[in-house]
Amino acid sequence: MISVAIDGPAGAGKSSIAKLAAAELGYIYIDTGALYRAIGLFCINQELDIHNKNAVISSLDQIKINITFKNKEQRVILNGRDVSDEIRTEQVSRTASVVSAIPEVRAFLLSLQRSFAEKNNVIMDGRDIGTVVLPNAQVKIFLTASPEERATRRTKQLEEKGITADYEQILKDIIERDYNDSHRETAPLKPAADSVTVDTTNLSFEESVARITKLIKESAK
Ligand code: C5P
Repeated sequence: MISVAIDGPAGAGKSSIAKLAAAELGYIYIDTGALYRAIGLFCINQELDIHNKNAVISSLDQIKINITFKNKEQRVILNGRDVSDEIRTEQVSRTASVVSAIPEVRAFLLSLQRSFAEKNNVIMDGRDIGTVVLPNAQVKIFLTASPEERATRRTKQLEEKGITADYEQILKDIIERDYNDSHRETAPLKPAADSVTVDTTNLSFEESVARITKLIKESAK
């Protein structure tokens, strides 16, 4: 089995790039951020105080998360309900970033993530895939772009969906999330020692996909 780990900060284009690369190569694409988001959504719905670690930890035994595929697209099932669309809000992003710093939350999601790589060729995206989840992945990519470029892309994306977007607020959220993700004690966001860094600040989407697909084809031979 071949495993490709793509890690990097929020908004670097990991998921859209990985999705296309996976389709081209015939691999399964797994978005691990969706799992942390599902836990975030659970906490919001239960009105849990996410800064109270023990409250979050003791709620884990009420949480059952599964991944299924519909038309080859990953769906995330939280306690029997498909929450794949609901987890895409900024509130859920922020909550996921806070609860993902709790080691017990990370441990809770580890075997689910690893189980896919045991049975399939996968491209998995996240923050700690190359460092913690799949340390033996044959290909490790650290995908990044400047915070300003990521905020610009996110603003455009929202505006295209007809949602009013505030660039300054989005930039602030991105910087805050980068800080949280890279400064936590457990599995902080950092390039794996054996990863290749790809900076997409000055690359178009198509160029980024081509670069990643080429890297995978070369390294997974
Ligand atoms: O990738 P996405 O933005 O959907 O992830 C949401 C949050 O989940 C991130 O800000 C990060 O805190 C957390 N996450 C993580 N480890 C991963 C994937 C996501 O800590 N492998």
